[in-house]
Amino acid sequence: MSSKRALVTGGAGFLGSHLCDSLLGEGWSVVVVDNLLTGRRANFEHLRNESRFEFVEFDICEPFDVGKVEYVFHFASPASPVDYSIHGIPTLKVGSLGTFHALDVAHKYGAKYFVSSTSECYGDPLEHPQKETYWGHVNPIGPRSVYDEAKRFTEAVTMAYRRYHNVDTRIVRIFNTYGPRMQLNDGRVVPNFMKQALRGEDLTVYGDGNQTRSFCYVSDEIDGFMRLAKSDEHLPVNIGNPNEFTILECAQHVLKVVGSKSQIRYEPLPQDDPKQRRPDITKARQLLGWEPKIDLETGLRMSLDYFKKAVAEEVTTK
Ligand code: UDP
Repeated sequence: MSSKRALVTGGAGFLGSHLCDSLLGEGWSVVVVDNLLTGRRANFEHLRNESRFEFVEFDICEPFDVGKVEYVFHFASPASPVDYSIHGIPTLKVGSLGTFHALDVAHKYGAKYFVSSTSECYGDPLEHPQKETYWGHVNPIGPRSVYDEAKRFTEAVTMAYRRYHNVDTRIVRIFNTYGPRMQLNDGRVVPNFMKQALRGEDLTVYGDGNQTRSFCYVSDEIDGFMRLAKSDEHLPVNIGNPNEFTILECAQHVLKVVGSKSQIRYEPLPQDDPKQRRPDITKARQLLGWEPKIDLETGLRMSLDYFKKAVAEEVTTK
């Protein structure tokens, strides 16, 4: 009566840990392999007494084998611009070596495979909104390249294992996602603004704040992953919320939800910061019957308790 077993690399991270909850909810046994570089034990603390959950602290840049699994979800990677600029070389290694090793596990056990890719594959996009067919506009040598090119390489390796080894692969391109379990200090815009608004500090808007992002609440995002995981689509699929906001609008929403009187403070725009980002989700709608349901203000309200608690506890990266 044993349940099917899934491997989640990076399962101690924000999205990986929510994915584990969904898999467990659908009856899977889950083994997480994570080196805790940016992931945190706190993200699976609630699973301490769950017999179907195992955690292995290990860096998948080395070969590994956790025994037979039916599904490999490869989510290991730093993912916030601050994290991947601090951990540039580990980001390149996990996207390359780590991807080979995760695919080797899938190949060995004939397991299905699902990899988290990113809208960063589109770079600072010249096509708007971004369809999966767009090849992107990426600076291969800029500060973001450690992540962008690692993920583009991840996609290339994944497609190669499909072509040469018949691994049953899926690729999701994730757009900005937010919600509980984001690290308070990972530097991304939603945790930064929430933290600043809750502390009554200035909200740091980079550049003029007219650059755009499209924010997806985590439960919508995970629903998209689960649908794609059950489908047979092997080409990349965008999963993200197509409602686009300027960063200044995002700041206004945070101030409203928190009920904060913080001011806006303008700071320099980081190099190669994309000017606009919005997924075209026609493919996910048609193929998976998926679309996000939670708008930004609702999602921020649903995240508020988590951020309040995190600020109170001064939760840091570990
Ligand atoms: N940003 C900002 N203030 C912050 C953090 C981020 O204005 O305190 C901007 C950042 O320059 C970018 C956008 O918000 O234009 C989203 O940044 P984030 O780091 O969340 O992720 P990205 O979409 O760039 O990967």
